[in-house]
Order: sequence, then C-alpha cells, then structure tokens
Amino acid sequence: MRILITGGAGFLGSHLCDKLLAQGHEVICLDNLFTGSKANIAHLADNPNFEFVRHDVIDPYKYEVDQIYNLACPASPPHYQFNPIKTTKTSVMGAINCLGLAKRVKARVFQASTSEVYGDPSVHPQPESYWGNVNPIGRRSCYDEGKRVAETLFFDYHRENKVDIRIVRIFNTYGPRMHPNDGRVVSNFIVQALKGIDLTIYGDGQQTRSFCYVDDLLEGFVRLMNQTETVGPVNIGNPGEFTMLELAEQVLKLTKSKSRIVHKPLPADDPKQRRPDITLAKKYLKWEPKVQLAEGLKKTITYFKTKV
Ligand code: NAD
Ligand code: UDP
Repeated sequence: MRILITGGAGFLGSHLCDKLLAQGHEVICLDNLFTGSKANIAHLADNPNFEFVRHDVIDPYKYEVDQIYNLACPASPPHYQFNPIKTTKTSVMGAINCLGLAKRVKARVFQASTSEVYGDPSVHPQPESYWGNVNPIGRRSCYDEGKRVAETLFFDYHRENKVDIRIVRIFNTYGPRMHPNDGRVVSNFIVQALKGIDLTIYGDGQQTRSFCYVDDLLEGFVRLMNQTETVGPVNIGNPGEFTMLELAEQVLKLTKSKSRIVHKPLPADDPKQRRPDITLAKKYLKWEPKVQLAEGLKKTITYFKTKV
C-alpha cells in the first residue's frame, strides 16, 4: 500500500515510518518539523519507498494513498502550550484536511487521539466509554479540546460520508527518538540523570501515569488499522501504573546516577492519575503490551547516552 503519515518526522511518526517500510509499504511522511526533525528520518533518505514532504497540515494537501495515519500535533505540554492557538488549529484543521483527503481518495484514516480526552479523570482506570473531565478554558485545553473535536470530526465524517476511520487513544509513550528537550517526564528524568543534574518532580510526585514502550504502541496502531471489527476509539497503553516519584527512583537506579530529586510547582490541571483499561484492545486487536517499564527504560537510556 501507499501510506501517508502526518507528523512522520516526530518521535512516534518516525518509528511508524520504519515499521511500515519494513512491512513493504510505500510511505509519504508529511511534517512541518515543528517538534519533529530530519534527523529522525535521515536513515530513510535513500529508501526508494520513502518520501518526505515539508508541509503544514492546517493547509490542504492531495496524495493518492490507501491509508492515512494522522499524527501531526505537538504532544508534550511545553510544546503544545508554546503556541496554543496553533495547536488547536493543527488538531482541528489537520483533522478536516486529512478526512477530506480520505473521503476523496477512499483511504482508511487513523487518528492519533490521546488519554488527555479523559482530562483529570474521576473514573479509574479509564475505559473508552468514560466521557472525561476536561477543563475547556485551561492551559491544557488547546490540546485536550483540539483532540476531542478531532474525534468528533472523525465520527461525523464516518456517519455522514462513510469515511473509513480508526481512532486510537494513546497513553503516555516513551522510547528512543524522544527529543532531549521535549519536556515530557521520561526524557526529562533520563537526561537529568545522565547529566548528573537534579531530577525535577512537579508537585509531590504522587500523581500517576502508565508508560508504554514505543514498539508495543505501534503494534497496536497497525493491528487497529488493519482489522474491520471496530473503528474505535481504542485505548492503547501499558496498564502498569507508577507515581512520578517511583519513576524518578527507577531512572536513578538504572542510570546509577548521583542526581538528587527536587520538587517544582505542579502545572495547572495536571491529571492526578492515569491508567488505561485495555479490555477493548485485548478483545478486538488481541493486543497487550510486552515491554515492562524497567526494560523499556534501559533501551531508552542507551539511546539518550548517545545524545547528552
Ligand atoms: P512529536 O512532537 O514528536 O511528533 C509530532 C509531529 O507532528 C512532529 O514531527 C511535528 O513536527 C509534527 N507537527 C506538529 N504540528 C504540525 C503541523 N501543523 N503540520 C505538520 N506537522 C506538524 O510527538 P509524538 O509523541 O510523536 O506524538 C505523535 C502523535 O501522537 C501526536 O498527535 C500526539 O498528540 C499523539 N500522542 C502521543 C502520546 C505520547 O505519549 N507520545 C500520547 C498521546 C497522544
Ligand atoms: N513531570 C514531572 N517532572 C518533569 C516533567 C513532568 O514531574 O520534569 C510530571 C508532570 O507534572 C505530569 C507527569 O510528570 O504529572 C507526566 O508529564 P508529561 O509531560 O510527560 O505528560 P502528561 O502530563 O501529558 O501525561
């Protein structure tokens, strides 16, 4: 197949390019390089099945493709809050443009949604049937509400125009090729530990997240895209749940770092807890994560040792 990946030069997108090329597909990677980089896809430059296009998804584009994975959107809180209006435009107009293309060329289209659609969840763990607890006017809203509207658009194009959609709700994912200054917790802690500087825990460190290794996540993407039992949304994430204090301690142990832990103010609306209910992924995709946190952290630390 010929497959378009928007946001293909980012952390997840570049690994998805690798995976789909390895399966023998042609890949068009479309990205404006806001948070992604050419370095993430440099190893693909000579692959005749790979094509990079520098383009912003808020402007329409046309390609004859069989499938579209829509990943374009900054994902780390500091990056999506850098230009919040642009973040909402990227999610909403990016979804409209990619759904318009999917409708025209009859391509199956995949949306990278997020556990942030659940906001600061009052139901725990989070099943797909939970409608969420999202602040519509806060600092995280540009991302959370943008992704929620994108889901709405996907379902309306599906109901009104019979567009063949798939939606995944991604829970915190980590691995090689995260940007060292990305600002997300796993990359921050590893970079800080390797540099021997203080690990910055926001708040008391009792908030929880569930961390999925990138390879596991992408297997879930491809399984969802290539089945016809469900259009989603389907949660993909690792149900192992850790406090930020536990994560910091694991990183210190695995890096054998002498760094100290310091506490910084908790950002507004920071979710207190997050863990995916993956019943639907197990049922429809026969998917569950294989890589445990310590193993995934070791691989990620090995990568960051070459970067810091
Ligand atoms: P990332 O920031 O590394 O990748 C996003 C990519 O999108 C970058 O290459 C960036 O340059 C590109 N991009 C941003 N705005 C664009 C625009 N207007 N036009 C074209 N390209 C644009 O982040 P990631 O972790 O790889 O996330 C990929 C997708 O997965 C995002 O949609 C994100 O919301 C979603 N997601 C990721 C996680 C996670 O834990 N990694 C969790 C939930 C959802
Ligand atoms: N966090 C932290 N120190 C950091 C970066 C993040 O304690 O240096 C916390 C953050 O406040 C949040 C959790 O780690 O509670 C996950 O943050 P991240 O930005 O990785 O993802 P998200 O909040 O979007 O889940």
